[in-house]
Amino acid sequence: MASGAARMPTGESPVKRGGRRTPQGFLFELTGGAACLDLVNTLDERPLATRRDNLESYADLVDWAEQSRLLSPGEARALRRAAARRPAAAQRALQQMQSLREVLFALFSALARGRPAPAGPLHSLNRSLARAFAHLELVPGRPRFGSSFACEPGDLERLHFPVMQSAYELLTSAADLERLRVCAADACDWLFLDRSRNRSRRWCDMSVCGNRDKVKRFYHRRRE
Ligand SMILES: [Zn+2]
Repeated sequence: MASGAARMPTGESPVKRGGRRTPQGFLFELTGGAACLDLVNTLDERPLATRRDNLESYADLVDWAEQSRLLSPGEARALRRAAARRPAAAQRALQQMQSLREVLFALFSALARGRPAPAGPLHSLNRSLARAFAHLELVPGRPRFGSSFACEPGDLERLHFPVMQSAYELLTSAADLERLRVCAADACDWLFLDRSRNRSRRWCDMSVCGNRDKVKRFYHRRRE
């Protein structure tokens, strides 16, 4: 179930509980099924006062993007160097991504709960989309053209582009949108695409949130 598990080097345990910090950087749990949802999920246990932001620094953001395959290892190295040279600009770029993350959460969590798209976040997203797609270029290829976002290798705001592309692709795909879910656990609010055959996935991770909910129901029943 955990798509992040497939990205792990062999021999290591799958990433659970949102991820973990390692000497090499943060290892993210990527179970959303779309980059824009995985970004939203980097703010863990969102409904709780003890919520945990796994994007503590711009370096974390680069780790996340590399593990999400939004950056090649070479592109990630160039961005880490640029961030080390321009720490204040890197901090601003991180804050921009954190703001975008909240816009995406507001929009996708409403849609996952069957509510209409909230006007404010949709307006913000449209402005971000125009900014990102101004960098979009066609790249010749066979059997079809590809696309990429033209920018300098050290452009600290470049991660904005593939995240916006992911959000655009999800919002314009009926097949994906009808699989959009918010985790059923009270303490979670993670977003994901339910790719299960019978569309029965209720939790971001059965072994974590699913178990927690089962334990809670068990105690409620015993107290009644
Ligand atoms: Zn969950």
